[in-house]
Amino acid sequence: MINKGTLMHEQRKQTIPPLQTATLVYKIGNSLYINITNRCTNVCIFCPKFKEYRLYGNDLLLKTEPSFEDVMAAIGEPVAIDEIVFCGFGESLLRLDLLVRIAKELKLRYTYRIRINTDGQANLVYGRNIIPDLVGLIDCISVSLNAPDPSTYSRLCNTPFGAAGFKGVCDFILAAKNQIPEVIATAVSVPGVDMEECRLLAESLGVAFRIREYSVQ
Ligand code: SF4
Repeated sequence: MINKGTLMHEQRKQTIPPLQTATLVYKIGNSLYINITNRCTNVCIFCPKFKEYRLYGNDLLLKTEPSFEDVMAAIGEPVAIDEIVFCGFGESLLRLDLLVRIAKELKLRYTYRIRINTDGQANLVYGRNIIPDLVGLIDCISVSLNAPDPSTYSRLCNTPFGAAGFKGVCDFILAAKNQIPEVIATAVSVPGVDMEECRLLAESLGVAFRIREYSVQ
């Protein structure tokens, strides 16, 4: 027969979440990166996470998605940084409410620039323009454009939105450009993808362009 103490112990064991061993916050240069989800809208063929969730020695594979309290505790009192960046192996805007809450708290506490690295699909995911949610909180958005046309984008990024995915990214850039101080379009230099065409598209959308080096792991 099981006694009450044993039962309570068993119940406690069942409700304890898995121990978080992943890195929630990591520093590269003068930037502090925040890792709040491993979920993505896209499945990019060049993404290193499909081989390994490690970056600069950090384990970014989350056992559970962190709470506001978890993230703020991990940030602590940062030193020797210029900016805080929402970017892990996942799409941070899939946790929009949490991101906004963290960004508000960071703006209250610090003067650091806040950047989001994003796949630019958030307006399609939420079915509305989410840029106004970020105004006054986010100083820079770096959007993964990755391709000069819809078919290349679909092949590289496997967007679940089909042809609307690429248009969604371009529309997201245009919406952000009007309301966020700095917007950058980026592309990973996958062999065969015309970086000059990507640059011309970014410029036609009215934003700066940056190439991210492709690495075979
Ligand atoms: S959106 Fe970023 S993290 Fe997600 S699969 Fe693509 S490259 Fe990887």
